[in-house]
Amino acid sequence: MDADLADFTKLIEECQKIVVFTGAGISTESGIPDFRSPGGLWEKNRPIDFSEFISSEEARRESWRRKFAMDSVLSKAEPNKGHMAISSLYKSGRVTAVITQNIDGLHQSSGIEDEDVIEVHGNTTYAKCLDCHSRYELDYIREIFADNETLPICKQCNGIVKTATISFGQAMPVNEMRQAELAAYDSDLFIAIGSSLVVYPAAEIPLLAKQRGARLVILNREPTPLDEYADLVLRREIGDTLDFVTKT
Ligand code: NAD
Ligand code: ZN
Repeated sequence: MDADLADFTKLIEECQKIVVFTGAGISTESGIPDFRSPGGLWEKNRPIDFSEFISSEEARRESWRRKFAMDSVLSKAEPNKGHMAISSLYKSGRVTAVITQNIDGLHQSSGIEDEDVIEVHGNTTYAKCLDCHSRYELDYIREIFADNETLPICKQCNGIVKTATISFGQAMPVNEMRQAELAAYDSDLFIAIGSSLVVYPAAEIPLLAKQRGARLVILNREPTPLDEYADLVLRREIGDTLDFVTKT
């Protein structure tokens, strides 16, 4: 067995409070493109940041167009080997929480309870008023938008309605960030998977775990700025690697 795989297997065996932190890379094998890989979403669509979404109707329209186009991919996506390997460690009681930057809900579909998935960048399966936080279902918005791309407006307060995801430039969700910090503090092994670890403040979370004494493993095809702090770096494909180390 290669040395990095042997080390990873050993760490997983030795540790009891494993926290997994995932980025878009874990879902590419489910057919959802990530942001920063060649051919990823970043090359095709520059992200619309929060201030642009607020100030420009055209940006809001473009954002809903992309959202509904992406839904045809998201609604068909299923958890892959990587998600299932994490879920099996969770079911054995060793993974205590999954912190994810993803908005695709695939950890929940793989069998991890809602309360144990901490979504630091929100969720794309529903929408909210930015002012009064009233919840809106996507089917309702799709219907409105289908009428000449009419933008949804809050029925309670006329506020702007946006998917319940966190855009660049938007404030992070306070409760989820707190939960993520507590989970990181309480872990003995912190595994960052499929994230370029450049999106802050989410990318700070692995460092918090490390500073509080957890061992840090990074599994990603490409180098990340946190590699120098990690106890182990695996530059490998996610699905096969997690499948291998959880079945060995
Ligand atoms: P990123 O695109 O910046 O980085 C993904 C990393 O995963 C890259 O470094 C890439 O090399 C690696 N990777 C991709 N597929 C891999 C594989 N099969 N095996 C090994 N490595 C692989 O993603 P990020 O760090 O999560 O930041 C992007 C932001 O965009 C996130 O905050 C997230 O909110 C959002 N996003 C979410 C989704 C989703 O929900 N699935 C998809 C795209 C973007
Ligand atoms: Zn409102």
